[in-house]
Amino acid sequence: MNQQTIFVINSGSSSLKYQLIEPVSGDVLAKGLAERIGTDRGEVTHIVHGEKHTDTLPLPTHKEALNHIIDLFKENGPDLDHVGLAGFGHRIVQGGWYFKGAAIVNDDVHAKITELCDLAPLHNPAHLIGIDTAMELWPDLPHIAVFDTAFFADLPEKTRTYALDKETAHKYRIRRYGAHGTSHEFVSGTVCDYLGKDTVRQITLHLGNGASACAELGRKAIDTSMGLTPLEGLVMGTRTGDIDPAVVFHLLRKGMNVEEIDTLFNKKSGMLGLCGDNDMRDVWQRRDDGDSDALLALQVYQNRLLKYIGAYTFELGGLDVLTFTAGIGENDARTRYRLCEKLEFIGVKIDKELNENRDPSKSVWRISTEDSKVLVLVVPTNEELAIARQAIRLI
Ligand code: AMP
Repeated sequence: MNQQTIFVINSGSSSLKYQLIEPVSGDVLAKGLAERIGTDRGEVTHIVHGEKHTDTLPLPTHKEALNHIIDLFKENGPDLDHVGLAGFGHRIVQGGWYFKGAAIVNDDVHAKITELCDLAPLHNPAHLIGIDTAMELWPDLPHIAVFDTAFFADLPEKTRTYALDKETAHKYRIRRYGAHGTSHEFVSGTVCDYLGKDTVRQITLHLGNGASACAELGRKAIDTSMGLTPLEGLVMGTRTGDIDPAVVFHLLRKGMNVEEIDTLFNKKSGMLGLCGDNDMRDVWQRRDDGDSDALLALQVYQNRLLKYIGAYTFELGGLDVLTFTAGIGENDARTRYRLCEKLEFIGVKIDKELNENRDPSKSVWRISTEDSKVLVLVVPTNEELAIARQAIRLI
């Protein structure tokens, strides 16, 4: 059998997403999700050939979840012994200062991911559980860690450095690490492939429930909106994005504790905090129904985006390509239109028809007019495929 596949795992604290991918063609042979791990009401959904198989059962740990996923593969296919399984790709949010690219998991890599839990306390520990469980079940296959931060490891010093006391920053390793790197790398690389050149000044906007902007020269990131953690930058579904740090001191003095502020900024702010909804479809609906909170939330959201596009256009010395991706970027024609309308003075001309009529067969979709000075694209992101490709390259 010549086919080679990669089993991609994205392990969260109470969930585990997976895809079995053929990295060259990008074909997904099967995918699924285990949810509510750690409870007796766990749920595993396995999708193969468009058919969904769902089981509800106790899932005390990730091990039971992965074991049940294996059972679902046995029952519904494909047969993992006959798909040319070459190894595993594990998504890791924080690779800190150690990882500039994907790495085969060994004791040293494992220890470094563990050390970095400090910087990603919600994510890295959960990824390690996924790695440990999969390595226990498949000890003979290579396990590759693919880091969200790797694309930003070589950000220029002037963009990765905060204007914070040097010694404190050094002592606590405080710098801009960025996030969504796998997506920005995939999308900006796809744009370069599409244009057949590596010299473009581009901005990629990953607009999903989490959101970030990235400025790239060709395939290289030069600035990005997420910082030490994925809290900084754009307005997101439930996160504040940029906010005066003095708001933290103020709330502390008013009696809130650190955990409460952390939850407030990460889970109760952004669009949800501004108007009570974090799904953009609901926010638009409410705005159409005349809801003033929804209207203001959309204005704050778009203004923040505009600021970043402006800043990055100046950092890049001009703009050749602007690309939208992720849930909102790929599906929300109105957000794209409203934003691009305001960019007319830098030469952006959006084609209303193209913007509203997606051709799902295309991996790159132009929405600007032929004579637009800035090319505006939609590129559906595919982080799992990017992880599978990085893994197979290393294997
Ligand atoms: P993601 O985090 O990339 O999966 O994006 C999820 C978000 O995409 C949802 O919370 C919605 O806000 C948004 N979204 C998905 N479909 C649409 C749509 N048709 N119109 C507007 N927003 C959408």
